[in-house]
Parts: sequence; structure tokens; C-alpha cells
Amino acid sequence: MQKIAVFPGSFDPVTRGHESVVRRALPLFDRIIIAIGENAGKQGYFPLEQRMEWLIRTFAGEPKIEVKAYTGLTVHFCMAEGAQYILRGLRTSADFEFERGIGQMNRNIEPGIETVFLLCDPEYTALSSSIVREIHRHGGDIGQFLPVEAGI
Ligand code: ADP
Repeated sequence: MQKIAVFPGSFDPVTRGHESVVRRALPLFDRIIIAIGENAGKQGYFPLEQRMEWLIRTFAGEPKIEVKAYTGLTVHFCMAEGAQYILRGLRTSADFEFERGIGQMNRNIEPGIETVFLLCDPEYTALSSSIVREIHRHGGDIGQFLPVEAGI
């Protein structure tokens, strides 16, 4: 059976931290679906199509990787895609506390789906999409924080 992981997030925008997590996960899975969660009540900073385009370009050379958008519960999306794993990245202990709650709730809803956590490379520990958005909002250059392949 193929090992399929869903890497859910907002990716608003994709950063080198996200890229690092996905590249580290590649040897572990047969397929990785990078899934942009759409929230009806909350519009992103960058348009969905733009976020998707950057992700597609970042991983263009990787046949194992697909990029999709979804609404609703992540575990329901995993079931629909036949994925057995949710992939999440950990930067700090605050990430861990947050992720533990979500991971445990997801496990209650769908015991067949396992959450797998990976660390990013240490140089990206301080990097988050929200900080990148803040820099962009105030006219700063965000190029160094984004994957080179995204071509932003
Ligand atoms: P969300 O809104 O669900 O937190 P994000 O797009 O911000 O979505 O993040 C998606 C995933 O990537 C999360 O698991 C997050 O912890 C992880 N992540 C984001 N930035 C980094 C980083 N610099 N290093 C490691 N993991 C990261």
C-alpha cells in the first residue's frame, strides 16, 4: 500500500521552513499532498491561486508531490484522498503544545490517521508565514525567506 501524507496549512505564503519540512519528509512517503486549507470566514493575505502557484513551482521537479486546496476538516480530506498520515512541522515548544491538541483531536475523530511531526532545519526556526506577511505589508523584501524555486 502506498504511504500517502497530507501536509496541511495556509501557506500564506510558502516559506523555506515549509520547504525544509517537505524535503525532509520525501524519503518517508510515496506521495505527499500539500493541502491549502480554505477557510470560508477568513481570506488569506495572498490569493489562493497565488499561494498554489508558488507551491507548484517550488516542488515542480518532485513527482511525489501534489498541491491541492480543501475545505472542511483535514481528516475528512485525508480520507477522501486515501492518505494515512498528516504531516506537520515543529519549530518551538509552542508549536508542540498547539499541535498536540490538534493531533489528539484528529486521532479521536479518525483513529486510522496518524500525525507525523518533523523538525525544520535550525536556521528556519524563527521563520513563519505571519512574519513574512508583516514584512511584506510594510514594503520589506521577503525574497530571502521564500523558496528560490517559487520565483517570487
Ligand atoms: P497553519 O496555518 O496550519 O499553521 P502554516 O502554513 O503556517 O499553516 O504551516 C503549515 C505547517 O508548516 C505547520 O505544521 C507549521 O508548524 C509548519 N511550519 C511553518 N513554518 C515552519 C518552519 N519555519 N519550520 C518548520 N515548520 C514550519
